[in-house]
Amino acid sequence: MISRNALNFSGGPGALPEVVLTQVEAAIKEVPEVGLSILGISHRSDWFAAIVEETENNIRTLLGLSKDFHILFLQGGATQQFSMVPMTLLRGQKHAAEYLDTGYWSSKVVTEARREGPVKVLWSGESCGFNRLPADDELAFSPDAPYLHYVSNETVEGLQFQRVLGRDDVPRVCDMSSDFLSKPCDANKFSVIYAHAQKNIGPAGVTIVLVHDTVVKASSDELPSFLNYRRQVESHSNLNTPPVFAIYVVLLVTRWLLNDVGGLDNMEQTNRHKAELLYAMLDNSDGFYNGWSSKADRSQMNVAFKLPDELLEKKSWRKAMKQVSRVCQATAPSAVSVRLSITPFRCRRLKS
Ligand SMILES: *Cc1c(COP(=O)(O)O)cnc(C)c1O
Repeated sequence: MISRNALNFSGGPGALPEVVLTQVEAAIKEVPEVGLSILGISHRSDWFAAIVEETENNIRTLLGLSKDFHILFLQGGATQQFSMVPMTLLRGQKHAAEYLDTGYWSSKVVTEARREGPVKVLWSGESCGFNRLPADDELAFSPDAPYLHYVSNETVEGLQFQRVLGRDDVPRVCDMSSDFLSKPCDANKFSVIYAHAQKNIGPAGVTIVLVHDTVVKASSDELPSFLNYRRQVESHSNLNTPPVFAIYVVLLVTRWLLNDVGGLDNMEQTNRHKAELLYAMLDNSDGFYNGWSSKADRSQMNVAFKLPDELLEKKSWRKAMKQVSRVCQATAPSAVSVRLSITPFRCRRLKS
């Protein structure tokens, strides 16, 4: 059964797997084991505490995450983490935190971090129009930086790091909003990983934050409780009313990843296969479709491309989409939790 939902080319929230949608549909009327609608179950119930615990355990299992990490389900989106990270780790620091400016999202992160303390942009893709990522010999990481921040998958430009960056003696912080749980990721090498749910693993409203215990301990009590990782850990993501529905959907997606897909290695294979088919179509179009990013840095999650000129982009868009959707039909269309979004690249970059 392939619903129309299976193909989703939007750069925003992704399509969820059919089996999850069916379970969500039922849960809106009644969660079987509770006899109540998911929209009316108390966040203080034992049932919900068990849902949070199972979701945490599933994420831990999928990533092979060590016990030194706390898993939080927060509100405020990835954008709130742009500030919460430097509020915790940069306020009052003498040395600059290092940030990579690799595209639309990282430029927003840098703008927010500068409000909290000294920031050094270690590398910027601005001069090359954000069509490639830095090589190792372009990055001289300082041992004195309070942390390094980068975006693992630049959603708009379709650029994805295929390696872990930075030094082992400097905390790594990563925005994984658009490739979280799409493949294995060496999560234990980071100090903070954050990813909102809506690109890959659920509806908007919840952001998953993996925080190493050392960062939790470093949280200052001068911060508002809501923005304090330690207070959030102590209250088990239940400091104020959490987004029960969004967290429940994330649980269903993690169950699907574990039981139906069989883990992140399998998810990665599916994603790679889908991406290869699409990139092959672009590369074999005699220059009609032009992939945006350099081949080495191509994203398996977001395929950004241009048509020969802007007028054609306006006129031929429907035709291009039909062609792309034919390629997508040929791939496993039910495995769309981690979808490929095809973004007509517009240079939407804001001045920071
Ligand atoms: C979409 C996106 C964001 C924005 O997240 P919000 O939850 O809307 O704040 C941040 N980072 C990346 C990489 C994104 O793709």
